[in-house]
Amino acid sequence: MGEVEYFDKKVETASRDETVMLQFKKLVDLLKKVFASNPFYKEKFKQHRVPLKDIRNPDDLQKLPFTIKREFEEDQERNSPFGTNLTEPLENYVQYHQTSGTTGRPLKFLDTRESWEWRGRVACHILKGAGVIRGDRILFPFNFGPYTAFWIMYEGAYQLGILIIPTGGWNSLQRLECIIGNKATVIPTTPTYALALAETARERGIDLASSSVRSLLLSGEPGALVPQVREKLQRIWNARCFDYIGLTEVGTWGFQCTEEPDGVHILESEFIAEVVDPETGKPVEEGEAGELVVTNLGRSCMPAIRYRTGDLVKVKKGFCPCGRTFRVLEGGVLGRKDEMVVIRGVNVFPNALANIVEKYIQPGDEYQIKAYKKNGLDEIGIKLEIKEGGRKEVIEGAIQDEIKRRLNLRMEVEAVPKGSLPKFSYKAKRFIDERKGGEI
Ligand SMILES: [Zn+2]
Repeated sequence: MGEVEYFDKKVETASRDETVMLQFKKLVDLLKKVFASNPFYKEKFKQHRVPLKDIRNPDDLQKLPFTIKREFEEDQERNSPFGTNLTEPLENYVQYHQTSGTTGRPLKFLDTRESWEWRGRVACHILKGAGVIRGDRILFPFNFGPYTAFWIMYEGAYQLGILIIPTGGWNSLQRLECIIGNKATVIPTTPTYALALAETARERGIDLASSSVRSLLLSGEPGALVPQVREKLQRIWNARCFDYIGLTEVGTWGFQCTEEPDGVHILESEFIAEVVDPETGKPVEEGEAGELVVTNLGRSCMPAIRYRTGDLVKVKKGFCPCGRTFRVLEGGVLGRKDEMVVIRGVNVFPNALANIVEKYIQPGDEYQIKAYKKNGLDEIGIKLEIKEGGRKEVIEGAIQDEIKRRLNLRMEVEAVPKGSLPKFSYKAKRFIDERKGGEI
């Protein structure tokens, strides 16, 4: 294994106390600006009766109220088009992005030049974490739409001085030819699209394993943190996989380093992360699972302060061999708070089931996990494709046994003929939640 790369070694390997003090200093700077001229948070803090002078030490963050997505949505509905979470005059903003809006109306987010450069620095940490160095060639196999995930990697690569190769609206074959022809080494993509590219390569007789690509930077859905998906992608591409995690509302708070394949670092120099009980909002004991709450420290122009992500996470104990002191979340995001299905008293997350199913399917095979209500109670069912001639009962039985062993639950598992479930080319939606009347 090569030497560990850092973007800012001093900050990334600082002691816990130093990190906490750095966060606090940045928090106070942020709050000063917000209290002075951000209508959304000024009003919110006034309603909760928290004056700025009450924030005197790092623990005082807990005096501030949580922010939830609904508040941003309502604010933008009432104050169209951009809402009131704006600390600066509108003419200072230079970048527009929005959420995908899969669970409601898209949320709009604006950046100033300063905050956009901050997002770029965040991406520098991510790129360096994945061992990207000058001389690498980063190829973007996607359209530059209004979603942030790849844009910020573009900005980070630019700041680091890495050759950027865009491929706009090209098709998969054109992109593959561009990867091979220009000896691209790093590809940011969704796991689903990495598999789709691999499928096209196979059809066209292109050997990806002997290409110059050495790293896949994955986002949009869990990839590198799902061992089966990681192994599949690493084998086909002969490249290392790294997940990076974030939300348009707060930015990219999580990244993987080269030394810990089963966890993500929280970028603690730029974000404050709290892990709270999803019901009570109180901090959980160290090492317990809870909801991630994030405060971003570099976007004072349109901040998210104590933002409840809805993501369930668990902090790993001990230090990472990479030398970074930023805390590590075991397995990344374990599941979404609102996706939890309670079956006969057992909390089940679709992710955990997906990890099991992934072990039994071949590349290109699909599966679907569906939550529904039966007699008023949560139920869950799994369908998966098997190739022609595959032994239906054996596969169904093996998956049922593994679920029984791991979760102590009996669950309906049905193998269906190949081609009968929906296929995805960009981001997969394999969990259907009928309890709320639709896909999430
Ligand atoms: Zn590490």
